[in-house]
Amino acid sequence: MRWGAGSVSGDMTRTAVLALLARRGPLSRAQIADALEMSPATITQSTKHLLAEGLLVQEAPRPSPAGRPSIPLSLVAGSAHAVGVQVAHEHVTGVISRLDTEVVHSFRQDFDPAAPQALATLTALIRAEIDELERRGLPLSGVGVAVPGIVDPETGTLRMSVRLGWTGLPLAAHLRAALGVPVFVDNDISAVTAAERLYGPGADEADFLLAAVGQGIGLGMVLDGAPYRGAAGAAGEFGHMPVQTDGPLCVCGNRGCLESLVSTEALLHNARTAGVIGDDADLDDLAAAARTGRRAAVDLLETAGTLLGRALAGVINLLGPRSVIVIGEITALWDQLDAPLRRVLLEHLLPAVRETRIDVRPWDDELIAVSAARVVLGAPLAAPRQKS
Ligand SMILES: [Zn+2]
Repeated sequence: MRWGAGSVSGDMTRTAVLALLARRGPLSRAQIADALEMSPATITQSTKHLLAEGLLVQEAPRPSPAGRPSIPLSLVAGSAHAVGVQVAHEHVTGVISRLDTEVVHSFRQDFDPAAPQALATLTALIRAEIDELERRGLPLSGVGVAVPGIVDPETGTLRMSVRLGWTGLPLAAHLRAALGVPVFVDNDISAVTAAERLYGPGADEADFLLAAVGQGIGLGMVLDGAPYRGAAGAAGEFGHMPVQTDGPLCVCGNRGCLESLVSTEALLHNARTAGVIGDDADLDDLAAAARTGRRAAVDLLETAGTLLGRALAGVINLLGPRSVIVIGEITALWDQLDAPLRRVLLEHLLPAVRETRIDVRPWDDELIAVSAARVVLGAPLAAPRQKS
């Protein structure tokens, strides 16, 4: 595993060790040092602290081919927990995750961010999760909150969220004061990307992109081992890449953004307007219409796949990632989008990046909340300076 410049501090080593053991199960110090490409001395020092804190335990020695028996270290699964919460414009989803990333509790509740008491409602929902942990006598590391919008990674202040209608909200500071526990707030796609870097199959890759395509479109970037956030924490607004002159009006106020043409909202709107599906129909209905060969549905998704593929080709040519992970509600339509998208990639990708893998993941409603919890378990990577 390669870590980006400046991303390996004492805390980062700790985070990397915990995430590695969660991913791979018990490993010896030598195996950990090898997997993380860090010095054995660094790993010995880091694991000493983790053992003293009770987060790790030594297992019985195992015979090793090298002669000296190896002593595997394993996580104490219940020694730490994090609450992860996704705030969306119609609901709040939450989970409680153990140190080994097992989800032990989850909830989903309708939510109206425009309601005057929205913040109080959100605070009460999170407090109920903390109470639940206390009732069960389980230790809490902190709370991770993922929101759609631009978040200052240093303070956890939500600078702007078009979807929630919230602007300049010091969300982390508010929740920390109200709940009395460590709270980290991050952009939803950044949270998923950071969690992927530590805990996902992407953990072994130092250069990957994560394209999230649903009601909004965002891009998480891990470049040279480290998450890339941009100078103002606003990098990754893939949805607002201009792709069509005089295109439809976008939520950002501009015209012809990728999001105004390819978001699931835009696809449903276009399909309804064209009479392909009924007013109450959803993405599954659109997928079904295309699967049965309905021309208008097939054409609509062909266009969407082409637009998305062209925009992705530009980004891949620019950044040269090893892989692109695609997540989001749009994956329900992937059997229709895949062919046009791959055709366009083949047309536009430069030979040097033509081997870039496209990994499409089935959409999981809890992914963002789970990732927010994992961000807390791996806080130094995602939010190095959000103070608790
Ligand atoms: Zn836009």
